[in-house]
Amino acid sequence: MRHIEKQTEPRELTEYRNGGGKWDDFSLDKGKRVLKNQLLTEQNGLCAYCTREIIFNEEEGKDNMTVEHWYPRARDEKRELEYRNLLAVCLGCYNHGEYFHCDTSKADTVITLNPTNNLHIDTIDYEKSSGGIKSSNAIFQDELDDVLNLNIKPLKKARKTRLFEFRKYLHKKYPNKTANYQKELNKWRNLDVSHNMIVVKYLEKKIR
Ligand SMILES: [Zn+2]
Repeated sequence: MRHIEKQTEPRELTEYRNGGGKWDDFSLDKGKRVLKNQLLTEQNGLCAYCTREIIFNEEEGKDNMTVEHWYPRARDEKRELEYRNLLAVCLGCYNHGEYFHCDTSKADTVITLNPTNNLHIDTIDYEKSSGGIKSSNAIFQDELDDVLNLNIKPLKKARKTRLFEFRKYLHKKYPNKTANYQKELNKWRNLDVSHNMIVVKYLEKKIR
């Protein structure tokens, strides 16, 4: 999981909300297009929960991005058009429904772990050997495991592979000398590739 720094909300959203608009009628033309693009940019094109790459490209007819309400709409309608409550997420599904994760498994469950809070993100780490996602906070850990389902087999494997490939690359790039970890870290922090955070955490430990 990566810290999301929320920007100023798009004007289209403000106007739609102030005009008494409802989420269910919020079409692309009424401002959702602008919203989706801004959320995607804000998150470097990665799902707010699992950090898989997500796409919203109308020209190419590609859209595997959902707008998630961190605090469920079903539990507080007033927050359905609140910008800080809106996140870009993936479709939350592996193997045609063999596994559900992210907002698909979360559904209307209220969670405390919030990717827009950097103190929450600071508790997150990854297990090198398994690719598992961990939190030093027990409540967050339960939410990662049982609500967001981020420790399912395919996600663990994808993270593990990401780190494995990165270490292979590092070895090749710096064969007989110490790697420039800081330079790699600066690059990887902003890289828009799936599961970049396991590499970021690995590099942060190297330079500590
Ligand atoms: Zn996801």
